[in-house]
Amino acid sequence: MTTLAELAAPSYDVLVVGGGATGAGVAWDAARRGLRVALVERGDFGGGTSSTSTKLAHGGVRYLEKAVRSFDLGQLRLVITALRERAGMLRAAPHLAHAQELVIPLRSRWQRFYYGIGLAMYERLAGKRSLGRTRCIDASALARQAPALAKAGYAGGVVFFDGAFDDARFALELALSAESAGAMVRSYTAVEELLRDGRRVVGARVRDVLSGERAELRATHLVNCTGPWADGLRGMARAGAVPRLRPSQGIHVVLERSWWPGELGLLIPKTPDGRVLFALPFEGRLLVGTTDTEVRDPQVPPRASEADLAFVLETFGAAIGRAVPRDAVRASWAGYRPLVAAKGSRKTEALIRDHEVEVWPEEGVLSVLGGKWTTYRAMAEDAVDRLCELRGERRACTTQSAALLRAADPAALRADPALSALPPDLAAHLVRYGSAAPTLARAIAADDHARLLPDQPYTRAELRFALAHEHARTAEDLLDRRLRIGWVDEALRSRLLPLVSSFLLSPDPASR
Ligand SMILES: Cc1cc2nc3c(=O)[nH]c(=O)nc-3n(C[C@H](O)[C@H](O)[C@H](O)COP(=O)(O)OP(=O)(O)OC[C@H]3O[C@@H](n4cnc5c(N)ncnc54)[C@H](O)[C@@H]3O)c2cc1C
Repeated sequence: MTTLAELAAPSYDVLVVGGGATGAGVAWDAARRGLRVALVERGDFGGGTSSTSTKLAHGGVRYLEKAVRSFDLGQLRLVITALRERAGMLRAAPHLAHAQELVIPLRSRWQRFYYGIGLAMYERLAGKRSLGRTRCIDASALARQAPALAKAGYAGGVVFFDGAFDDARFALELALSAESAGAMVRSYTAVEELLRDGRRVVGARVRDVLSGERAELRATHLVNCTGPWADGLRGMARAGAVPRLRPSQGIHVVLERSWWPGELGLLIPKTPDGRVLFALPFEGRLLVGTTDTEVRDPQVPPRASEADLAFVLETFGAAIGRAVPRDAVRASWAGYRPLVAAKGSRKTEALIRDHEVEVWPEEGVLSVLGGKWTTYRAMAEDAVDRLCELRGERRACTTQSAALLRAADPAALRADPALSALPPDLAAHLVRYGSAAPTLARAIAADDHARLLPDQPYTRAELRFALAHEHARTAEDLLDRRLRIGWVDEALRSRLLPLVSSFLLSPDPASR
């Protein structure tokens, strides 16, 4: 890990604040263009919103519906961009992102017509980047492919494709890719104050959140990528800046797969109160969400309220025609969408789902506002283009067809001798490490396959690897975002917490 002194030694072209999808994406893009980049994140990489998403790389079926209903070309462009970027995510990290088949169950012929046409159009908009054919299925095929819906009285369904990905690992790998492209990256490093020369921002005073140590970083420009917290940094950069963010909270619950057997995902495009509900296979469990509740002051960490949990369980239960009790929930979490109000407006209906790069030339500060995970790369390209413009430089973006640091084909990985020598559950679990998986597989084999729990694929070697090579610093980093246990099974997390904490307390955990 880079020490604070090492981080503060050079001066930078750009200081990127916030290590979620946006900030890590900006740091990766800027470093690849040859800029001297520092990336600081006050928590874990991806530990803000970027690990709490529905994990869909998607154009947005709902946004397409809005675009068509209100003849909104802006929305349509956003869907087309997102469909292009969806394909890019699958190409850049095939070990972390894959095509996901989803079904919309139908009650009537009218719905079949409406969603059939809409989703065929969605596929057409993706063009040659389509992930698979949209098709209508009858009630018996629906019961076969989505057995949980067999007794819910549907007339059939429309099956279509989107992308699904591991958001926490994708954010981490973006930060690692930025680092490998030459950026200095550091987690648990919060910007507390900006350094100024007159009106101009020339760097920041940062604090290591875990040790309390402080340092000053010098940079000619600053890019604010603090997501739902962007107004805080905007306020530091320009006194009296009008807040632009209107964050909304979304929650997810995790259930056992027995509630939804099979590999299809579920989309309910319109819940009784007009929201969207997804259910997706995730880490051997079922992820169900989400809500959309406006919040005034986003807290850290966000919490899923009982009312939100009840809403998700009721809506999912209504969709499958079977009540889902509260004690079926294995885990739940919440996150904030960094929605941004159209300039000059604070009205909810003026919220834009697209991003905006706000440029303040006098301060030398850019803020990347809004957007969504799927469009992180396009947002970063836009932000770094604007940064280069401000610097009076021409540097071409190179991320359009670039792969992340550990990109690897999952099928090739599974066939790798180091992985195929392991028990199948361990081998399957290691695919997420991409090109690093064989090294890790050998370390696990050399460690006598030491599992953290006898019936689970999590190993001690992974903890060492995460501390040595993946910027993990706390038990939460390890359990929630590296191993992903905390967010799929809270009981299992509690069982492992003492073990992982004592591992961290040992004199040199990374070499244990
Ligand atoms: C419930 C939910 C579901 C979603 N589902 C999807 C989906 O399926 N597909 C999709 O495309 N999008 C989805 N999104 C949207 C997507 O997750 C977000 O748009 C994206 O993750 C935002 O990334 P970000 O980097 O801008 O923000 P964040 O990930 O929040 O990153 C900002 C970071 O800035 C850091 N920070 C703040 N202040 C400071 C400071 N002073 N110093 C240092 N660091 C600081 C924070 O710790 C944080 O990590 C969803 C969002 C939510 C909430």
